[in-house]
Amino acid sequence: MAAWETNVRKVIPYTPGEQPDRTDIIKLNTNENPYPPSPEVERILREMPLEILRKYPDPTADALVTALSECYHMPKEQIFVGVGSDDVLAMSFLTFFNGKKPILFPDITYSFYDVWAELFRIPYDCQPLDENFQIRTEDYLKPCGGIVIANPNAPTGVARDLAELERIVAANPEVIVIIDEAYIDFGGESAVKLIPQYDNLLIVQTFSKSRSLAGMRIGYAFGNEKLIKYLNDAKYSFNSYTMNTVTVAMGVEAVRDKAYFRETVGKVVATREWTKKELLRLGFTFQDSQSNFIFASHPQCPAKELFEALKRQGIYVRYFAKPRIDNYLRISIGTDGEMKTLIAFLEKYVGENL
Ligand code: PMP
Repeated sequence: MAAWETNVRKVIPYTPGEQPDRTDIIKLNTNENPYPPSPEVERILREMPLEILRKYPDPTADALVTALSECYHMPKEQIFVGVGSDDVLAMSFLTFFNGKKPILFPDITYSFYDVWAELFRIPYDCQPLDENFQIRTEDYLKPCGGIVIANPNAPTGVARDLAELERIVAANPEVIVIIDEAYIDFGGESAVKLIPQYDNLLIVQTFSKSRSLAGMRIGYAFGNEKLIKYLNDAKYSFNSYTMNTVTVAMGVEAVRDKAYFRETVGKVVATREWTKKELLRLGFTFQDSQSNFIFASHPQCPAKELFEALKRQGIYVRYFAKPRIDNYLRISIGTDGEMKTLIAFLEKYVGENL
């Protein structure tokens, strides 16, 4: 080790799902939306004069904040935007989790939480989900440095009752509780309505899933005005121009096209419900998913082998070699056609391996 390496901030980075170059695969491994973004997004992109790129973007991304404000009936002062919800979450960890006590999150959850905690040197204490992958409310009713809960959770797809989440928020007025609602548009009940009552609640959402814009990187948070101000202070102390002009303009169109949003979310949900029935028919087990993926296991087919067999067939799903979940596959919901191909393969595979 070189002498200077003692002063390096060493981190083990988050591993995102594979993004293969091949276009002939069925890609069900990163919870992307199988449908394109709203045609209005395409229109604005075509109409955009290159001239606008000469200037710096609006650091406040006001057009996007305004569109979100109108869509969610939330005052602009209560909205924070960032480069994907990963950026919003990272900024929130940096801003709010500065206590000595550990922050709490489930043992099985979005695997970026512990990475940010390590990066920012935040102590953390993982709380085990129960055998049905449910959060145990009692685990979060103790002194801590903050809480982060994904609802619906990832990679399980399981949603928690809003009343239980409210108990957690209400019991922790001394710390910030972040609810990561990356998948809330596909099911579960949003905690946004609790914001007027709790000044310690931050809700984070994204354009990557329900608005089909994972490639644009847009995330946002709703919270009390003071909380949003603290977030913006941290953001402007780090990099004022995080969101680019093109992204902001496309994001505005995506938020405004509510009909398209409802239509595509509805299609994903219908396909998910069909896929659940088919997986059950083939002997898979899973907790009921409220998200755009299903976290499934098969009693006779080891998940890792199935993952590899699917990959050879050009069907990519996600496998996590981690305690408690190493016999599960996380399958994102694709189009009806893609899911039919998946089910046909699984039917044959399960039949041959029984
Ligand atoms: N939270 C959860 C629970 C997720 O699964 C993801 C997607 N990887 C994100 C946040 C981040 O999404 P994005 O940065 O694309 O908004």
